[in-house]
Amino acid sequence: MRRRARMNMPRLISWVKWRRSVFKRDNYRCVLCGNWRRKIAPHHILPKRDFPRLKYRVSNGATLCWKCHGKTILREYKYVKRIVRKLFGGLNKWRYTEHYKKR
Ligand SMILES: [Zn+2]
Repeated sequence: MRRRARMNMPRLISWVKWRRSVFKRDNYRCVLCGNWRRKIAPHHILPKRDFPRLKYRVSNGATLCWKCHGKTILREYKYVKRIVRKLFGGLNKWRYTEHYKKR
C-alpha cells in the first residue's frame, strides 16, 4: 500500500504492534456486528486526525470488519458510545472519555 510505504520504520512498527494488540484483545472479531468471517480492520475510536497522540493507544483501538469500518469513515463520533460500551462496558470505564467530551 502506498500509504504504508511512506511510513518510516519506527512508525510502521508501532502501527503493526498496535494493530496486533487490538485484534488480539477483540479476538479478531468485529466489535460492532460480531462478524469473524469478513476481513477485519483496526479502527481508531477517537479519529487520529483529531487525536494524533492516541494513534497507537490500544484503548483507542477497536477491531471492525470492513463493512462496519466503512460506515464509520468520517462519522467516527457517531460510533464512539457503541464501541466503548461493547469493549469497556460504558463511557465511565473508558480512559479517553474526557477527550471525547472535550472535543
Ligand atoms: Zn462488523
